Amino acid sequence: MNGNEHDYSRESNPTRAALEHQLARVEGGDHALAFASGMAAISTTILSLVPPSGHVVSSDSIYSGTEKLLTELAAGHFECDVDFVDAREPENVAAAVDEDTDLVWAETPTNPLMRLCDIGAIAAVTDEYGIPFGVDSTFASPYFQAPLELGADIVVHSTTKYINGHSDSTGGAVITDDDGVFDRLAFSQRVGLGNMLSPFDCYLVGRGLKTLPARMEHHEANARAVAEFLEEHDRVARVYYPGLKSYPQHELASEQMSGYSGMLSFEFDGSPVELEAFIEGLEVFTPGASLGGTESLIEVPSLMIPDEIGHGEETAEIPETLVRVSVGLEDPDDLCEDFRTALP
Ligand SMILES: *Cc1c(COP(=O)(O)O)cnc(C)c1O
Repeated sequence: MNGNEHDYSRESNPTRAALEHQLARVEGGDHALAFASGMAAISTTILSLVPPSGHVVSSDSIYSGTEKLLTELAAGHFECDVDFVDAREPENVAAAVDEDTDLVWAETPTNPLMRLCDIGAIAAVTDEYGIPFGVDSTFASPYFQAPLELGADIVVHSTTKYINGHSDSTGGAVITDDDGVFDRLAFSQRVGLGNMLSPFDCYLVGRGLKTLPARMEHHEANARAVAEFLEEHDRVARVYYPGLKSYPQHELASEQMSGYSGMLSFEFDGSPVELEAFIEGLEVFTPGASLGGTESLIEVPSLMIPDEIGHGEETAEIPETLVRVSVGLEDPDDLCEDFRTALP
């Protein structure tokens, strides 16, 4: 029987196919899959490529959801062996992998510590053993970073953030050059897990993608203005923005990214009570856990979602007065003025 190419929407849908084609193109990959959330993309990747009792080496600075997935589900339920390493030094990854490692996982820049890892240097290690290397590139967006070109095998995005960009959809994407990886993930998604992005959300994300370059340029210019303002403020102890010359990994950022994106964090110099009063005094920045949308959002991981502080044993510690900022598309003078007024 000669059926329709898009016979049944879980397995194949024209709007999803169009979005996946666009996602593959913007990341410079051969294949893409659109998922119902960033976590659906990450969990499908990890659980499809790592068998029960398998071995994962992960960066110790990763999104809190990924950390819980690795510790609770991969290690806790599927009895995987998960090693967390400080991936800022590629030698730490090299020391943790062996020929039985099933996956190396990293995020760059990381949420919320803005740490970078050298994608090319880690890929050189994983290539030697033939281990798939996955990179969560959500903070950079496809506009500022091309992990596949640098040697990664798999790129993941939470499209909820910059790619959709309008805070009206949750979604995730996996892009890969590896046919074998693609076949396994596509089978998991389409046949077993059914965690694909709905056709209407695919339409929304495709619409968002059209303005990605314009938005990212503006996010970056605003973030730079805010980072430079904060760096000079005497109630700010430290600014974490890869675009600042003072940032310890600025050189690596300049080498492997074409821009520094719109996310930054800073350490407030004061007590938690003063910090809360400062956040309450803001008028342009809204407290919020998401990021990458048109409006500026601010989050204090220790106050707002204590869970984000993580287990603190194996993964990188987040300072108590760390403030994470998703710099939106407002007038940069209004953003700096809001901080000037609200900071004590
Ligand atoms: C938000 C986020 C995720 C999770 O994405 P969801 O769409 O919320 O499931 C994963 N990684 C990073 C870096 C994120 O910021």
